[in-house]
Amino acid sequence: MVGLYVHIPFCVRKCEYCDFVSFPGMENRFEEYINSVIREMDEYAGAEVDTVFWGGGTPSVLPAELIKKLCGAINKKFRLAPDTEWTAEMNPGTLTDEKICAMLEGGINRASVGVQSFNNNELRAIGRIHDSETAYNTICRLHDNGFKNISIDLMESIPLQTSESFMNSLNTAVSLPISHISVYSLIIEDGTPLKKKYDDGVYNVPDEDEDRDLYALTGRLLKEYGYERYEISNYAKPGHESRHNIRYWQCGEYIGLGAAAHSYMSGKRYSNTTDLKKYISGEGIKENIEILTEADKMSEFMILGMRMMKGVSGDEFKRLFGKGIDDVYGDILKKYISTGFIDKNGGFYRFTEKGIDVSNSILCEFI
Ligand code: SF4
Repeated sequence: MVGLYVHIPFCVRKCEYCDFVSFPGMENRFEEYINSVIREMDEYAGAEVDTVFWGGGTPSVLPAELIKKLCGAINKKFRLAPDTEWTAEMNPGTLTDEKICAMLEGGINRASVGVQSFNNNELRAIGRIHDSETAYNTICRLHDNGFKNISIDLMESIPLQTSESFMNSLNTAVSLPISHISVYSLIIEDGTPLKKKYDDGVYNVPDEDEDRDLYALTGRLLKEYGYERYEISNYAKPGHESRHNIRYWQCGEYIGLGAAAHSYMSGKRYSNTTDLKKYISGEGIKENIEILTEADKMSEFMILGMRMMKGVSGDEFKRLFGKGIDDVYGDILKKYISTGFIDKNGGFYRFTEKGIDVSNSILCEFI
């Protein structure tokens, strides 16, 4: 079984912080793009798939007829497991009942909604196209139309955010029929309009200590409402963890279709061109190919696996690489076990609470 990722690189408008491969105002290329994605599927026709993920961009900007066309092609060209988890990223303000029905009928059973905040001043500051009410109503509408597995993304450390306003976002989230919440810290990327405003002193964002406080607050509040943290930034009600993303963190194989999509198959990582016109004309498929060495694979196993709260298994490491995890990473593991940042229990190595706060720098040591 493999995962299937489809990149839909279209958005209504660029958000102020966005450096993803996504293009606004390209409605006239939607159909050609979907035809190219369907063409790209042929190479993998018949592959057995048990998770599908449409990411972007904003997959929900596609009109209902293209949603149907893309769903139809996936159902026809791949062998989908009966319990396939099929997620589509959606943005408030881009959905209609017709689109929601097309998704459900096509097999999409998990909605991942980019909410980011339930505070209008924050949404405006980061340039989202929607307001809080639209986000709230979108989630209710998805649920009322039949989506029973709904995830949302929230952001911490965004301009104008305070711990009270962040609590408002979390409290609103838990009042809704949501089974999964991802909470990421905003990263101010070079070259984005938000970076310029930040450099010009237009906005302040919470500093690192405040960011960690918001993180701790998130964990406490979501736990109270039955959401378990299963990955550094992801929380789920029992049984609602994202199977597709777990596949990434466990170094599982996946096919990526579309412009800028990445695949990982048979020890090779490859990616398609980020140039939309080139992709539509059928060029730039597997433009970059990287063959992972054994050292790369061990390093990825640690860096991705340690993001999960259950940690990495020493037995699994031995099974995959024929070496003891202590023989390869013993020095790093011992050092951070002694400082209380990593814990070893039942053959698993995992971050402790205080280790999570410095996890980024520890993970770098596994490279
Ligand atoms: S919706 Fe997502 S992909 Fe689109 S511009 Fe905003 S952040 Fe970027």
